[in-house]
Amino acid sequence: MDELVMTTAMIYHKADLLENCVAENMKDAPLIQRNVTPYEFMESRWWDAAMAPYFKLPLAFDGGAGVPVDEKWAPLGTRICVYIRKAVDILIRHNELVDIFHDLRSKEPMNEVHLAARYGGLAAVKNYAVACAACVDEVATCKCIAGDVSHDYATDLAIGSVAWYPIVPHYRVLTQLAETRHLTRSKYTALAAKTNHGAFITSDMADSGEHGAFHNDEWESLTTLTSLEPFISGECQHCGVISDWVINRCLYRDDRKEKGKTLRKFVMDALHLKRDKKMDGFFGEILTIAAGDEFPAFLVKQCITAVEAVWQTLRAAGTDLPPNVVAGQVVENHVRIDKAFIETHNHPGAHALRRALSGTLSIMMDRTDVSPYPRILDAAVIHSIKMGSVINHGKV
Ligand SMILES: [Zn+2]
Ligand SMILES: [Zn+2]
Repeated sequence: MDELVMTTAMIYHKADLLENCVAENMKDAPLIQRNVTPYEFMESRWWDAAMAPYFKLPLAFDGGAGVPVDEKWAPLGTRICVYIRKAVDILIRHNELVDIFHDLRSKEPMNEVHLAARYGGLAAVKNYAVACAACVDEVATCKCIAGDVSHDYATDLAIGSVAWYPIVPHYRVLTQLAETRHLTRSKYTALAAKTNHGAFITSDMADSGEHGAFHNDEWESLTTLTSLEPFISGECQHCGVISDWVINRCLYRDDRKEKGKTLRKFVMDALHLKRDKKMDGFFGEILTIAAGDEFPAFLVKQCITAVEAVWQTLRAAGTDLPPNVVAGQVVENHVRIDKAFIETHNHPGAHALRRALSGTLSIMMDRTDVSPYPRILDAAVIHSIKMGSVINHGKV
């Protein structure tokens, strides 16, 4: 209850500040002689985003849901493991990306990408989306002392965050992808051709670093990148990396051994040196394997239909479907996904199916040539550079 009151007070105070700022009634703030640090910003951003009620209420209502928590329902893993911390914070970071244009337009000051660009320049923001994608796979594979339950909980949050924004219509993620795709098309076409494994991209794969934030206190990026060279011979690293993403995101830790082998073989058969980026049925087959024989066929089919429909819309949004048609399909897909999730709750043990459902959605949104997070960020960067160039030539 204290946190609900605090959240309300924070949002009220922020609205008051903004109103005064827009009316130019702001008194100069006292100088602290330095920039705000990433941790300081994230602390206030948590209140701004109402994160405490979002995360703590479900745990409190479910007695902790088996996740180790402290007396205030804060998951203990967030204090032990930087990857768990970043997995929890990722809901904010995805929000910064999908609102990267809207926050400027609406004079919203609380956006980490904008702040990082203000203090650290282009180098501080250009890898922000791929660092977010890395966070998901890092927490899914971390073997530190925080334990499997805490890591699985954090992985659920992270993949849920990836899937959430493009599925929920009001964020207009796929519409933004469609509206800006002309700016990023050539880059992502080239990256997919270089990988040559369906729509997947194995260049600019990030390591988000061993810090709890994406930047140091001077807002220098801590993200490093690696890229795979095109396959020539021997064991294929591309198939290996893509299989890891599929297994880590679609299976819980105690479910990976046997199904993991089957998924690895399936990925290699379906993708190795295959140019077809449409990948019809690829994500549905992952769901089939992840589900095993534990659930009714109609339920698995319902999940497959919903996921494949999202993939079709995502692909079309990244290629040639008009934005208004994309927007309509997103609404229909949202209903399909919601109905599938709701139906799973009628079947005991279906958390494994929900994990695969969210996992497949998260993979297509993070690791392909139509992934909206890196493409929208790239579009914003390209657009900013173009605008800067126009202004510098005195045309505006
Ligand atoms: Zn860990
Ligand atoms: Zn391969």
